[in-house]
Amino acid sequence: MKLERYMSDSIEDIVNKASLQKDDVVRLLKSDADEAQTIYKKAEQVKADKVGKKTFFRGLLEFSNICAKNCFYCGIRRQNGNTVRYFMTDDEILEQVKYAIDNRFASVVLQSGERTDRKFTTRITSLLEKIADLTGNQEIGITLSMGEQSRETFEEWFRAGANRYLLRIEASNKALYKKFHPNDALHDYEKRLQAIKMLQDIGYQTGTGVMVGLPFQTYEDLADDLLFMKNNDIDMVGMGPYIEHKDTPLYKYRHQLSSKRERFVLSLKMVAILRIMMKDINIAATTAMQTLDPVGREKALKVGANVIMPNLTPVKYRGGYLLYEDKPCLDEEVEECQSCLEARIAMAGDEIGYDELGTSRHYHHRMHKKN
Ligand code: SAH
Ligand code: SF4
Repeated sequence: MKLERYMSDSIEDIVNKASLQKDDVVRLLKSDADEAQTIYKKAEQVKADKVGKKTFFRGLLEFSNICAKNCFYCGIRRQNGNTVRYFMTDDEILEQVKYAIDNRFASVVLQSGERTDRKFTTRITSLLEKIADLTGNQEIGITLSMGEQSRETFEEWFRAGANRYLLRIEASNKALYKKFHPNDALHDYEKRLQAIKMLQDIGYQTGTGVMVGLPFQTYEDLADDLLFMKNNDIDMVGMGPYIEHKDTPLYKYRHQLSSKRERFVLSLKMVAILRIMMKDINIAATTAMQTLDPVGREKALKVGANVIMPNLTPVKYRGGYLLYEDKPCLDEEVEECQSCLEARIAMAGDEIGYDELGTSRHYHHRMHKKN
């Protein structure tokens, strides 16, 4: 056994601490395969005790790939001329929302590129009103993921029925964030952070997240990412591996990346450690995890994640929403995806929270404290 082991806490001691410090988290992230099993087991137990052995479905609709921004990592960035741009019609979107409800998901996620023009924002408001008409008295979870907006827009969408919002900080270290975005007012770290706080203040269940395995990113950065989520009282988290895309500026650093396997394992550890640190939040098993491992989402559910987002985007649009390479299920209709999903979730030991909103328990606790 190495000398340093005698001098520091064991993995077992660390996962059982009441609160984790940065050096604890770094130590967990650096764990070897055997040690990681201890982290996974603890996370599984925390999930069972604090949020239950249950997976909630959110029907994911990537309704448009039109984006005004130019994030260096993203395949649908504005300057990528190789992408055919699309915007699903309201009827197409409503049909998929209906599919989600009919299949007892009780929740949808509407995601797109970022646009702040009035034509876009009013269209979303009217879409939300149409969804409210469609669902009538049945309350459903509506998560939006459309980037940074003004307070007025966030409020308008909230009034129109949206109740959750996902806005990843991408990299909580400001210097790192700057490396991955153009240096202009449209890509401003402080503005993104303010937007997250605004969402919390308005009353949204607020989600954030990061990409794992980015070039230049260290274990210390990742530990800070998890502490960022904790310190900012986040209700839900979606995070997954960074996956390179050849039509992006960040592609030139691909030789510096760790292997896809390593990025996957690191993402899995991030999920498990986050569950240990934030026991009552919702954590998504993301598509990017599935991209690097065919059962990556199920593995994430086993170690602490409790939300999965089956892709309801019609197949004809899927090839247009390539944030990164090798996205799965590009030619698979949702029904086929869903039946195998059910079996695999059962294998992971969870039941499915059909017809349940699956509201983040942390959100309830946070709102209770506020009032
Ligand atoms: N435009 C919105 C939502 C769509 S992008 C926004 O940016 O907030 C959704 C997420 O996809 C981003 O937050 C980012 O974390 C992730 N993403 C983009 N490019 C990626 C890549 N190359 N690898 C992994 N995730 C990526
Ligand atoms: Fe646009 Fe979001 Fe991609 Fe950035 S990450 S380019 S905002 S879709």
